[in-house]
Amino acid sequence: MRLTPHRIKPGTQVDLAAIDTRNTPMLSGDKRTERSQAEARHAENVVAMQALQQRLFAEQKQSLLVVLQGMDTAGKDGTIRHVFGLLNPQGVRVHGFKVPTALEQRHDFLWRVHAVAPPHGLVGVFNRSHYEDVGVVRVHDLVPEQVWSKRFDQINAFEQALTEAGTTVVKVFLHISKEEQKERLQARLDTPEKNWKFSMGDLEERKHWDAYQEAYSDAIARCSTASAPWYIVPADRKWYRNFVVSTIVRTTLERMNPQVPEVDFDPSTITIDR
Ligand code: AMP
Ligand code: MG
Repeated sequence: MRLTPHRIKPGTQVDLAAIDTRNTPMLSGDKRTERSQAEARHAENVVAMQALQQRLFAEQKQSLLVVLQGMDTAGKDGTIRHVFGLLNPQGVRVHGFKVPTALEQRHDFLWRVHAVAPPHGLVGVFNRSHYEDVGVVRVHDLVPEQVWSKRFDQINAFEQALTEAGTTVVKVFLHISKEEQKERLQARLDTPEKNWKFSMGDLEERKHWDAYQEAYSDAIARCSTASAPWYIVPADRKWYRNFVVSTIVRTTLERMNPQVPEVDFDPSTITIDR
């Protein structure tokens, strides 16, 4: 499965505003069957991921970290449900990052992130991440430019250190259009079961749409590396988003190729008492 249309090569310029949020380059042929193709392939990916995760859990020599970023309503929660929801929960750790607490603010920005990086054997999923520290922080001038501008290199060094310690890092930007966000925010107002997800703050952030697109474009360009790549996933259509993210996770786990450990005894010589 070729993820090349969505993987950002190191050193490329990125302009999110110019990237289609409804494109489906990993599906070929008849537009009318795209959704069923994507759903069928997503289901296959999930089955493959289950077996790979089992091996990763048994091996305990490496881990996978999947970073999810996106604008409000981009589908970070839905992606976690659809892509990771059928894995063995003992082997998955999901962390959401909120506005830093008073204690977190007294540390460097990577402190709280490093603390929850997945140990060997586990799949870690970040719902938001250290990229907020070059995203919302930059858009709202929460720290001076001379501080956030140094963070791209700090992030690259951090992710490189994780990689060298056996954690494979992949980063996924769920890319929706401003119109799609409007529809999803409206649905949160119109559907009683979704009201709780609506926040007035989301309307405030929406006013800064272009600044966010620019900040993320920069972060993705500066921090997509050979060992910890960024993927920009067209996410207006949830079925395409789920299929692409499960493909990223599956192919990454296949490349990691975890192996169940060998035992130091000969099972054929062991008799179990009746
Ligand atoms: P939600 O994902 O809807 O639960 O919202 C979490 C909020 O926390 C978002 O508005 C994020 O922008 C904000 N947030 C997360 N990390 C940071 C950070 N490092 N600095 C400031 N705000 C953050
Ligand atoms: Mg929110």
